[in-house]
Amino acid sequence: MPADSCHLCGGSLDLLDEFSALRRVTSDCRPWPAGGRLGVCRACDTVQKPADSVWQDECRDIYASYAIYQQAAGAEQLVFGPAGAASPRSRRLVEQLSSVHRLPSTGRLLDIGCGNGAFLSAFGAAYPGWRLTGAEVGDTNRAVVEALPGVERFHVGDIGDLTGGFDAIVMIHCLEHIPDPSGFLRRVSGLLAPGGLILIQVPHFQDNAFDLLIADHCTHFSPATLAAAAKAGGLMVETLSPAWVAKELSLVARVGQGPEQPRPPGEGLESARDQIGWLRRMIGAARDLPAPVGIFGTSIAGSWAAAELEGRVAFFLDEDRNRIHRPYLGLPVLAPGDSLPAHSRIVLPMPPGIAGSIAARLPDLDFLMPPG
Ligand SMILES: [Zn+2]
Repeated sequence: MPADSCHLCGGSLDLLDEFSALRRVTSDCRPWPAGGRLGVCRACDTVQKPADSVWQDECRDIYASYAIYQQAAGAEQLVFGPAGAASPRSRRLVEQLSSVHRLPSTGRLLDIGCGNGAFLSAFGAAYPGWRLTGAEVGDTNRAVVEALPGVERFHVGDIGDLTGGFDAIVMIHCLEHIPDPSGFLRRVSGLLAPGGLILIQVPHFQDNAFDLLIADHCTHFSPATLAAAAKAGGLMVETLSPAWVAKELSLVARVGQGPEQPRPPGEGLESARDQIGWLRRMIGAARDLPAPVGIFGTSIAGSWAAAELEGRVAFFLDEDRNRIHRPYLGLPVLAPGDSLPAHSRIVLPMPPGIAGSIAARLPDLDFLMPPG
C-alpha cells in the first residue's frame, strides 16, 4: 500500500496541512509534540492519520509508557450527565446495552482492550452469571483484571490465539487505534458464538474535535464511516447511537449481511476542516487572555490546552473528586468551590454544548467560552 493511502480501503488521501502545526496528546492524556498528519479518504470518506511507519513508531513509544487513568490513580473517568450527575462510563454503557438488547443470564464475554477492567467490573456486577475474558496488549493490568469477579481469563497477545464461542465481544476505545479496522473486525467476528453480539465504542470526532489531536488514534469515525467499517468487517449493524455516551459513537452488531449501505455522504473533509478550524480559534482566544489562566478539565482536552498554552497556565479546575487536590502536569488541580487566584479566567476546552452546561451550573466562575 503506498504511504498515503487509506488504511480502510486503499483510496488516496487529501491531507489537511493545517493539522501539522497543532500539538497533540496521547490517549492516556500526555502532551505530545506537533507534527502529525491528518487526511480524508477520497473513496470511503474516512478521516484518518496515515498509518505509516512514522505513526507506527510513535505509537510504539506511546504504548511503551502507557499509564491508563493516571490522573485519577487508576479510577475510571466519570461521565457527567446534563444535570451534572456523574457515573462511571462503563456502568452507563452496560445500562444502555441492557435497555436495547436483552442478554441472557449466563454467557461468555470478551473485552478486547480491557485496560484495568472497568467495563468487565461493571458488566460482571450486572450479569454475575457470565464468564468474562479480558484481552490486552501487555501484562500491566493482569493482577487487577484477574481479581475481578467473573473473570476466568486475562489474555495477552494475538486475539487469534483465543478459543471462540463468545456470546458478546466488546471493544471500547480500541478500534480507533487499529490500522486495519475492517480486517480486525472480520477476525473478531470469527470469535463470536452463533447469534452473538459485538459492542463497539469509539470517539465521535464530529461531536468532539479534540479526538483529532490524539496521536495514537489513526481512524476518526463518523456514524457513516463506522457503519461502513462494520459492514466491511462482516457485521450487520443493529444499533448505532451518538447519544449512549456523550462524544462517543456506540454500535451494536451481529455477524451477517445487512442491506446495502449508501455510500458515506462525502462530509469527511468538511467536518475535519471545521473541527481543526474550531480548535485553532479556541486555543487562539485562550492565548489572548491575561494571566492568571486556569483550565477546566484534566483529560485529553485539558492536557492538550495546557501544552498549547505552555507557561501561561496557573492551575487546573476539575469536578472529578478522583482528580482534585493532586498535582497534574506540575500544576495544582483545584475544585470549583476552592478559592482561585484573583481575577483568574478559566478556559473551557470542551465542545460548545458541554461547555454551556458547565458554565450554567457553575455561574460564579469566569469562563472563557469556546467558539460556537
Ligand atoms: Zn478509504
